[in-house]
Amino acid sequence: MKTTRSLNVRRTEAREYQTPASGIFFTVKNVLYTGKSSFQTIEIIRNKDYGRVLLLDGLVQTTERDEFYYHEMLVHPAMSSHPKPEHVLIVGGGDGGALREVLKHPVKKAWMVEIDGHVIEACRTHFPWLQDAFKDPRAELVVADGKVFIDATPEMFDVIIIDSSDPVGPSVVLHEEAFYRKLKSRLKPGGVVAAQAGSLMLHQASHVRKSVFLRKIFRHPDLYLGPVPTYPVGMWCYNFLSDRIDPLAVRRLKIPKGLRFYNPDIHRAAFALPNFLKDQLSGG
Ligand code: SAM
Repeated sequence: MKTTRSLNVRRTEAREYQTPASGIFFTVKNVLYTGKSSFQTIEIIRNKDYGRVLLLDGLVQTTERDEFYYHEMLVHPAMSSHPKPEHVLIVGGGDGGALREVLKHPVKKAWMVEIDGHVIEACRTHFPWLQDAFKDPRAELVVADGKVFIDATPEMFDVIIIDSSDPVGPSVVLHEEAFYRKLKSRLKPGGVVAAQAGSLMLHQASHVRKSVFLRKIFRHPDLYLGPVPTYPVGMWCYNFLSDRIDPLAVRRLKIPKGLRFYNPDIHRAAFALPNFLKDQLSGG
């Protein structure tokens, strides 16, 4: 198990190499948590500009300052487009942010399947504002590999949210065709899958690779965008996958009150893709 840490020896700086030649750094006010699980290196630091920052294997997962950019754009386009999302599955999401957003909707039950219990414990302690979600009686927390869970579960879901890390270590299986075929088989008719898909600029090959198999599995294999300031080069991509719901044809989006980022205009704008990406996805 090759794991990577971001902290320098003197623990005064944490660096994420987004490419071998460029990245992002955080000066460290204090180190709140460092540990190794059987899956990855877990680091939580406090930074002057971004507050608490969670890094897994040296990669930024969530920061106190911009986590809502990501969690709202991952969760609400799917949840607000679905007519009545009652049963929701989240794969990954150990920090609790995606679960918090899902529970803003009138769901009956939300499962969160996270492979690494150490991530949950570390976040429970150091990301207190994300913890109410775990106390909600509608939430069921399962510590397991998402692939194993989806292969075994008898449950069917209205919405499935993939809040995985990048395709390294335990997360590789969550970016494969077999996993998406299995997700489709656990979706109720009219269901939606929303998944984090990576950086607009740095992960183009992955968007093209996935688009080839996703368009064979779903009638609407859409990609949408949203800014996340601390993610590789600031612009993130997400998949909106459904057979029946065209995200741009939904007459009335059911959006919870009090959101800080997502709204109907952002929803429409998010599905507008730049020419270079459209060309690549259309095989041009
Ligand atoms: N937003 C972050 C990103 O885009 O990089 C992801 C945040 S969330 C913390 C990612 C979570 O996925 C981690 O807690 C990791 O342990 C979990 N994870 C990775 N592989 C997994 C798997 N096979 N099954 C379930 N959870 C997994």
